[in-house]
Amino acid sequence: MLSYKNIFKVVLVLFTVFTSSNLFSRELSEISKIRIINISEGARLIIESDKPIKYEVFSLKNPSRLVIDLAKIKLSDDFSLPPNKGIVKEVRFGSFNDDISRIVFDLNKPLKNIKTKLLKPSSGKKRMLYIELEVNKAILSTKIDNKKKTFQQSKLSKKRRTIIIDPGHGGKDPGTSYQGKLNEKDIVLNFSKVLKEKLINDGYRVFLTREIDKFIKLNDRVEFAKKKGADLFISIHADASKKDNVRGFSVYTLSEKKMDKEAEKVANLENKGSVFSRKGLIGINLTQSRNIIEDYQIKQAFKRANDSSFEFAEILVNNVKKKSKLLNRPHRYAGFAVLKSPNYPSVLVELGFITNDKDRNNLRSKNWQSILANKFVDAINENYK
Ligand SMILES: [Zn+2]
Repeated sequence: MLSYKNIFKVVLVLFTVFTSSNLFSRELSEISKIRIINISEGARLIIESDKPIKYEVFSLKNPSRLVIDLAKIKLSDDFSLPPNKGIVKEVRFGSFNDDISRIVFDLNKPLKNIKTKLLKPSSGKKRMLYIELEVNKAILSTKIDNKKKTFQQSKLSKKRRTIIIDPGHGGKDPGTSYQGKLNEKDIVLNFSKVLKEKLINDGYRVFLTREIDKFIKLNDRVEFAKKKGADLFISIHADASKKDNVRGFSVYTLSEKKMDKEAEKVANLENKGSVFSRKGLIGINLTQSRNIIEDYQIKQAFKRANDSSFEFAEILVNNVKKKSKLLNRPHRYAGFAVLKSPNYPSVLVELGFITNDKDRNNLRSKNWQSILANKFVDAINENYK
């Protein structure tokens, strides 16, 4: 039973929570509704909010998706995601970081054009963000016509792609281990070698950051990728958990917060140019003096790499799930040092849990390594399609 004194305490705590959440909500725009309307060009998405929203919209290919990042929002109590409709196959919602909420619309057709406008309220308080999606209806027929050509082109473009595979840990750093018998550093090196061979057979240039059991600093791995002119960087790891029933594959990309921090750090460097590779400099105007690069351009370079990393991570998860169990929320965000380059997209994968019997057996099996590596190759091919 609660005494009066305790009741008073409970009321006080509730009151404090209530006022602070009220204060907080003043800064946030409340989203009350998202609607999908079919139009002849494709679809119109309407997002209703009580205050102006800061947003960013971009599209991803293979599979076709529209991504909307909304800054500092909260959802109204009666909010629910709209039902799938027309070209929208599925709507997913999640937090990208503390400030950004991300809505992903899975589409059944490739996008040709996106138009957005934010309307001020004419009456009432609601503000509307309109996003018009124009889809490419002719895509199927052109694809068939150009099939041969596209195939040749992709073969050519593939050969120029440089993939860096980064087996995590090594030497004095064993990574996670199971009963001191099985070390992460060995598992990931074995898998990396299998993957390398398959990618080379498929026409890629491939380098491992280490071919042997050797300790390599994180910065040196990033520097190695830069020097090799990496187009894609995949760091390979294996997970461990205190709970032996936790299992599954996951992939990490750099969180936006960490990306912003890194961009700022680079902008403050005396020799900013040294961070970029020749490929990374594409789209950046270096003036005569090497150290005058606009902060904006640096940020854009990080964002470009980060958006491509996000896209590849999604493609990878989609391919891997055909053959492997996934961890909950298989695409995650973190601030791993090896993911901080603006020169190329980079992901860090956790193949599975060394602490789970099934995962461990898979990780040790040559057959499973080969099956999973095939899915990586499929994902990389799809990424460059
Ligand atoms: Zn690791």
